[in-house]
Amino acid sequence: MSLLEVRELDVAYDGVPALRGVGLTVSEGEVVTVLGANGAGKSTLLKAIVGLVPSQRGQLRFNGKDLRGSSPPRCLDLGITLCPEGRRLFPEMTVLENIRMGAYSSRDRAAFKQRLEQMYEMFPKLADRTEQTASSLSGGEQQMVAIARALMSKPKLLLLDEPTLGLAPKMIHEVARLVKLINAEGIAVVLVEQNARLALRISDRGVVLENGEVSLRGTSAELLGNEAVQKIYLGG
Ligand code: ATP
Repeated sequence: MSLLEVRELDVAYDGVPALRGVGLTVSEGEVVTVLGANGAGKSTLLKAIVGLVPSQRGQLRFNGKDLRGSSPPRCLDLGITLCPEGRRLFPEMTVLENIRMGAYSSRDRAAFKQRLEQMYEMFPKLADRTEQTASSLSGGEQQMVAIARALMSKPKLLLLDEPTLGLAPKMIHEVARLVKLINAEGIAVVLVEQNARLALRISDRGVVLENGEVSLRGTSAELLGNEAVQKIYLGG
């Protein structure tokens, strides 16, 4: 059984379609990349999964449970977290305060402390900067905070929206390494990325969105070898 099942999903903003008949399945422990040009509907798909935008038609199921009409907090309880594009940190709050926001539903202090320790092991740079404000961090460090915050709830599925946006090449590779590390924890990942080659290299499968519709899907190897993908997303 798939962990996440999206079928025939339609989303419109004020009557203007953003997603049409979109299907996406993710199995436990998989990494699936979503490719597409600006405005293709990638962020909308992730937002619709966690209930940040309503869908007009289709099925959304997670672990066999119906997700349609549910809210981001319920998705968090079920085991899905979204790490949004642009990181959306609280700039004047410290690293620790930002990361803590990801565990707001946890009342178990021991579990919270243990998870925080795990996050500092995964992101050692953050361990030295717990009291620094988020706004004083580099772009790469801010992305680490956003990912650590998303992982605090120990999700089964992490939705990562453009984690390498605006980062230096070295940091882009660091993010890729982290995605693999996160996946090695048994967490499935849906990765929206402009950096198609890197994303496909670290994922099992991929789908291509064009004007709100899935135009191609396949294993990452198939997509890397696909002529249209090479031309449009891999720079020829
Ligand atoms: P990008 O790579 O630029 O982030 P994307 O593939 O993530 O693009 P979306 O942000 O999902 O694309 O946008 C899909 C379409 O929906 C676009 O035409 C966009 O203008 C529109 N859209 C997105 N959010 C809204 C909104 N809140 N209100 C109205 N239209 C929106």
